[in-house]
Order: sequence, then C-alpha cells, then structure tokens
Amino acid sequence: MPRVLITGAAGFLGSHLCDRFIAEGYRVVGMDNLLTGNLDNIQHLFPLKEFEFHFHDITKFVHVAGELDYILHFASPASPIDYLKMPIQTLKVGALGTHNLLGLALSKKARMLVASTSEVYGDPLVHPQPESYWGNVNPVGPRGVYDEAKRFLEAITMAYHNFHGLDTRIVRIFNTYGPRMRMEDGRVLPAFFTQAIRGEGLTVFGDGSQTRSFCYVDDLVEGIYRLLLSDHHLPVNIGNPTEITILDFAQEILNLVGNPKAFIDYRPLPVDDPKVRQPDITKARDILNWEPKVDRKEGLARTYEYFKQVVQ
Ligand code: UDP
Repeated sequence: MPRVLITGAAGFLGSHLCDRFIAEGYRVVGMDNLLTGNLDNIQHLFPLKEFEFHFHDITKFVHVAGELDYILHFASPASPIDYLKMPIQTLKVGALGTHNLLGLALSKKARMLVASTSEVYGDPLVHPQPESYWGNVNPVGPRGVYDEAKRFLEAITMAYHNFHGLDTRIVRIFNTYGPRMRMEDGRVLPAFFTQAIRGEGLTVFGDGSQTRSFCYVDDLVEGIYRLLLSDHHLPVNIGNPTEITILDFAQEILNLVGNPKAFIDYRPLPVDDPKVRQPDITKARDILNWEPKVDRKEGLARTYEYFKQVVQ
C-alpha cells in the first residue's frame, strides 16, 4: 500500500483528497494546523487503520516517521477574506511551508504535488487562461500575499525539480465548489447559499458582471489524481471552463433555494478583484485525458444538500 502525506487534510480540498486516496487503497497521513480546516471534515476517517492525523503547522520543520511515496501540499488559507485576515501566515505557508515539504520529499524520495491556483494569472489580460500565460498580478495589493505565495510555491517547486531532480507536479486550481466548503469563509458560493437559505440579501460585489468558472470538487479530485500519476512536471490547469457572471450565479442559487425572502444586495467590489476567469484546459485534456463531468446544475444540487444541513 503506497503511503501519501496530505497537508491541509482537514480543509475542503484536502479532506476530499483524503477520501479519494483511502478509497484507492493508499495509507494516508493527514496534516493540518486547523487554522482554516475543520476536523468535522475528516472525523469519519479517524477509525480507519489506513488513516493517521498529525496536528502540525508546516511552516515549522516537518517530521513524518516511516516511508512516504507521495506528498500532496494543500495547506493554505484559500479564500480572499482568510488571506486578508492572515497575510503573514499565507505568505509563510506558501513559502516556508512549501520549502519544508520539498525537503521532506527529497529525504523520503517521494513524488510531490503542489496546489497552485488560477490566482497566479491575477486579473488576466489573456482570456481564457492557458498555462503559458504569465499573469497580471499586483504584488503589493491585498491579494498579493496569496498570489505571490503561490507564484513562489511554483518557482521553488521547479527549482527542486531542476536542481535536485525531485519528482514534482504543479496543479493550477480554478474556482472549485462542493460539500465541506466553510460556511463563513467568505467565498461566493458559501456566502450565497447561506444567505439564500436564511432569506437574507445575496451580497453581489460590484455590478456582478465579473465572471468565474466553477468546478465541482469530484471533478477536481479526479484531475489531481490523474496529474499525480502522470509524468508531467510543468503546471496544469484543472477547472471547469463553463463561465458565468456572478450576478447570474446569484440568480441560479436564488432559483434553486427558492426562499421568497432572499434578494440581491449589491456591495462594493473588492480591490483587485479579477474581472474574468476561465481555464483553458487543452493541456489537461491532452495529457491527462481529463475534463469535468459534473455540470453546474448537478453540482449545485449536491452542494445545496450539504448547506441545507449545516446552515441554521
Ligand atoms: N463575490 C461576491 N459576493 C460575495 C463573495 C464574492 O459577489 O459575497 C464575488 C467576488 O467579488 C468575486 C467572485 O464573487 O468576483 C468570486 O469570489 P470568491 O471569493 O469566491 O473567489 P475568487 O475567485 O475571487 O478568489
């Protein structure tokens, strides 16, 4: 049974990855400092002998006894309000945390996959975004702490690959949604579901004409799994190319929830909010034979089932 370390294991994506690797027959070491993660997401794994949990902050030296075949680095605050609240930790986990894990991967001779992001493209001037686009990031703006941490993560991962010959993979993750997103993490989907269920205003920032492209979590996990097992060390976009404006997205959630008290509540647009975002997934299609399977109607219905249970 191969053994995999997953950082950010108690988070949204990390916990779904733990489930997938357990289901594939791996032994999973989950690591998290619970800064934004929640043990409820992995509670069901604790009874399994294939699963162990390490409560640890990866910006400090990381030690894991025994062999490791793979490391998946998914620890980081990931929503704009989280990284605005925790700018230094966000920079540290992308920089120091990634460095510590690369060192661990080297010593264990493990293959390491790191979670990068569509935020490396910033407010993009090329649309949709292929991996070859270098991006348009404001390093000193409020989002810079996340964007630059992830750009550094990519750079140091490539340096370990080129200088030390470490076996590495880089996934650039676009907006992803599904069960276990934190209700109060401030991202658009948990915000809209919570507000619609409670019969409050759906806080549309700006005029809602900015676009995003939302990928259901199971599709993302499949793409990451395939990338890990591929032999491709350059960045690969994983996301759903179906693009929608935020206002239309709010309307879809209003229609799905059907709470007559809920309404659209326009709020100011945050600084440096990207105007458009859509992945070019040609590379994932060619190299991984991957494309998303769950459309937004189906994905939102599954996600609504989750939010109905957690929102009071
Ligand atoms: N957004 C919004 N209302 C909210 C939260 C977000 O209109 O309550 C907008 C935000 O301005 C952005 C988009 O929704 O244009 C996606 O925001 P999110 O924080 O989910 O992720 P981002 O893609 O910006 O990292």
